Amino acid sequence: MPTQSSSLPASDSSAPLTVMGAGLVGSLLSLFLARRGHSVEVFERRADMRQGGAVEGRSINLALSDRGWRALEAVGIGDEIRQVAIPMYRRVMHDAQGNLSHQPYGQDNQAIYSVSRAGLNRTLLTLAEADPRVTLHFNQQLAGLDMRARQLELRDTTTGQERQQPFRRLFGTDGAFSAVRSALQKTERYNYSQSYLEYGYKELNIEPGPNGEWLLEKNALHIWPRGQYMMIALPNLDGSFNCTLFFPYEGKHSFAALQTPAQVQAFFEEVFPDIVPLMPELTDEYFRNPTGSLVTIRCFPWAFDDDVLLLGDASHAIVPFYGQGMNAGFEDCTVLDQLMERLGDDWHAIFTEFQQQRKPNADAIADLAVYNFEEMRDRVGDPRFLLQKKIESR
Ligand code: FAD
Repeated sequence: MPTQSSSLPASDSSAPLTVMGAGLVGSLLSLFLARRGHSVEVFERRADMRQGGAVEGRSINLALSDRGWRALEAVGIGDEIRQVAIPMYRRVMHDAQGNLSHQPYGQDNQAIYSVSRAGLNRTLLTLAEADPRVTLHFNQQLAGLDMRARQLELRDTTTGQERQQPFRRLFGTDGAFSAVRSALQKTERYNYSQSYLEYGYKELNIEPGPNGEWLLEKNALHIWPRGQYMMIALPNLDGSFNCTLFFPYEGKHSFAALQTPAQVQAFFEEVFPDIVPLMPELTDEYFRNPTGSLVTIRCFPWAFDDDVLLLGDASHAIVPFYGQGMNAGFEDCTVLDQLMERLGDDWHAIFTEFQQQRKPNADAIADLAVYNFEEMRDRVGDPRFLLQKKIESR
């Protein structure tokens, strides 16, 4: 039986703000809220990732771009993150014969940056924890939410024990399969859709060279476009690259078609010949690493009165082909902060304006991300596209 506790009065403006989910967006959001003078309670279902142990989940590294940097700068942690970020000035395309071609991301050394997902999350947690207004609670899973009574049902994932916890204002940053959003979905006339690509992804690795050096060009995002599928690689600080194969679930060339180590080896040697010598663990990793799915989630509204607000993947999960999911979630934090500055404690106005401003942007990047998959897997390898890019970059 959950233990009971009373609810907080609606008018209690001194009550702490509650953030559900201490992933990339939740940990950054807690910093923004604290720096506006609020005390913040953060609940996270996983154990503290800084205490060692494997990190569940998606890509090992991520592309951080301008929208993300602006949010990090706004809370004064841009320099810390820059220490552990690798600029990628261009795309390097690898064709099926191993020939390379290049496309700059911009002019005057403009770049996107490769950062470790876990490293960035750990840094954000440490910075949040250093703020006396922020309290982090790990192994706390949201198991139920009564929005009208403003009660959370939290399950301790180590003991299984459940308890009731009142909240005054709740920010749902608990990711694509958000439990906070599940409660919103049960309200009247709620709009929700999820759509999966018929492609999944698999993480693979290129190890560093014998002296810790990068075996591909370091300051680049590498792409092996192959029409119906593709692989990409982003550099890590230790000389390795994290590769992601985006591949159909079914069909002639697909996860379903590659069932044995010999099939995987033969397939890679045929279609990615230049990379096979750099992946001695290829077949082990291929069968050991899970196949991830690719989903776009749209929903509206993102707010429930002035009590609950969704941010990040909880409100707009997108496929990763623009490298903008985290960046868009970070931009949510920037916009919320600007609204807090302008509108003070008028949370109703803040939540209303937030969702009105952000929803069209989230929908636009969701569409662009799907479109960019076609471009990356297909057209970036097309000589006509390369010529067009060359002309554009003059
Ligand atoms: P999450 O990172 O999912 O964090 C949610 C947190 O909530 C987690 O810590 C989770 O444990 C916790 N949680 C979940 N449920 C509960 C619960 N019930 N109770 C308590 N806690 C809970 N984005 C980019 O910008 N650039 C990229 O290059 C990029 N590459 C990607 C590559 C791949 C293969 C994928 C799949 C995604 C990529 N993304 C990228 C998107 C990016 O990963 C997400 O947009 C980002 O992680 C969203 O952050 P978030 O904090 O909203 O959600």
